[in-house]
Amino acid sequence: MAPIRLAEAAYPVNVLGALFPGICLLCRRRSGCDVDLCRECEAAFGRNEPACPVCAEPAPPGSTAGEICGSCIVAPPPWTVTVAPFTYAPPLSRVVEGLKSGNGLREARILGGMLSPAIEARYRDGVVPDALIAMPLTRRRRRQRGYNQAELLAAVVGRAIDRPVLNGRLIRTRDAPPQRTLPRSARLRNVSGAFDVRRTLAQRVFASTTGAMPRRVALVDDVTTTGATVRAATQALRDAQVAEVHVWVVAKTSTARVAISA
Ligand SMILES: [Zn+2]
Ligand SMILES: [Zn+2]
Repeated sequence: MAPIRLAEAAYPVNVLGALFPGICLLCRRRSGCDVDLCRECEAAFGRNEPACPVCAEPAPPGSTAGEICGSCIVAPPPWTVTVAPFTYAPPLSRVVEGLKSGNGLREARILGGMLSPAIEARYRDGVVPDALIAMPLTRRRRRQRGYNQAELLAAVVGRAIDRPVLNGRLIRTRDAPPQRTLPRSARLRNVSGAFDVRRTLAQRVFASTTGAMPRRVALVDDVTTTGATVRAATQALRDAQVAEVHVWVVAKTSTARVAISA
């Protein structure tokens, strides 16, 4: 829901500040709402539309909304849909960078708050996945950063759309070299088999079916690029009997600009 705007001039600063304490983290002006992003800066974010509903690659101008791209028809990826409402470019990229430094909380609220309505719009006539799973970081990256920014995003989105977040089930089994240093074919090899779904204690000890993965899972991340990491993670979820994997990311990086991905 769009924040309600009050005519600033009609209210003393201290009243507005108490009601809407947000300060835009991009332009440093009062945001006029309780989130730290103002309407003007948000309007400068590039919308990723029209885009392929399966892989989120931007569609050529003049395409019909919802049209599946040629690559997804010829070689369908293992996931079902991708929701990626924005393109990865300034000033949005500055917020995403902020999500990965400091503690990421303000940025997670902003980005999660923008991703949630896009998800609600996409599933207006469809079935929303049963649960969310954050894309896990490599152990090395997690140690360096101290937290996983995708988990922060998943927490915000899960609360907004009233779906649980399954933490700790999807794990990275090995630390591959950073993706950004590799060409596409090597990226696919690099992360293939790098994920696994951890079974619950009940499953391991008592062969219980409690804790089985839900039928439909949404994999949450901040940005997606070539999809090599998403492909490997999706494969691990499918191998664990997840029937449908949906990919939810804030922004899609054009495959022509792969150097940005982490
Ligand atoms: Zn601003
Ligand atoms: Zn596609």
